[in-house]
Amino acid sequence: MSFPTEPARFEPPRHAPAGRHQSAAASRRRRLTITLIVTGSIVVLAVVAAVVFAVLMPSATPQAAATSPTATRTPTPTPTPTPTPTFDKTQFSLDDPMSIWVVADKHRPINPQDFVPSDLVDADVPAVYNSTLREPAARAVEAMFAAYTAETGESMRLQSAFRDYETQVEVYANNNQDDTQSARPGFSEHQTGLAMDISPASGECALDECFADTLPGQWLAANAWKYGFMLRYPNGLTNITGYAFEPWHYRFVGLELAAELHNTGVQTLEEFFGLDPAPDYL
Ligand SMILES: [Zn+2]
Repeated sequence: MSFPTEPARFEPPRHAPAGRHQSAAASRRRRLTITLIVTGSIVVLAVVAAVVFAVLMPSATPQAAATSPTATRTPTPTPTPTPTPTFDKTQFSLDDPMSIWVVADKHRPINPQDFVPSDLVDADVPAVYNSTLREPAARAVEAMFAAYTAETGESMRLQSAFRDYETQVEVYANNNQDDTQSARPGFSEHQTGLAMDISPASGECALDECFADTLPGQWLAANAWKYGFMLRYPNGLTNITGYAFEPWHYRFVGLELAAELHNTGVQTLEEFFGLDPAPDYL
């Protein structure tokens, strides 16, 4: 048996001493590399810090800000806001008795005194005295009463609608010419054919302040504006309207004005149009 390769197996590693030398050199190179990396990193961080400092300083000191280009830059023009459509308060007359915006109060008599609207019709709704109104007001009250019945299953009726001058003479006399109870002839909004007194079909609280607490009274207060009506004599505004709270008296003013009054929260025509308060006759 021979072992031709055996001796080689027991030769000492020929490169062992050289390997130790190379290992020492590699260590030096690694230390040098690490030193370079650390030094480089410090330099990079220092540069970054210097740049950040240079960028921030001008705005941090008022003197630098004064000379900064941003300080002298022309301000960006504020965009012009789109104008909100304004309500045109002059589109209908406040004086013409045929205008749906006519304002009748204790300072503003109907003119002429014996005025009778030219477009009176009888609204197709239940009524105690009459259902005579100007045509647009009649159509509106028909729609409003129908909506009330559809929503609640109950009915309303007209207690009183158009009254001519002669009828108002009687009404005023029947109220002992009491200015707190009824309008003087020629001053009643009922003569315009645009005003009406509303009561429940049952007659409960008819022409009484307690109407405000009934179902139709509350429904009207919340919904009449949607049909072009306003509560003409609100609670607590007698010093402006000249009349005590009349939760049953509604005035047709048209959809646009009724919505504007609702949206702005203005409760009287006198305030909305900048007219004199009319607590008493002149
Ligand atoms: Zn009335």
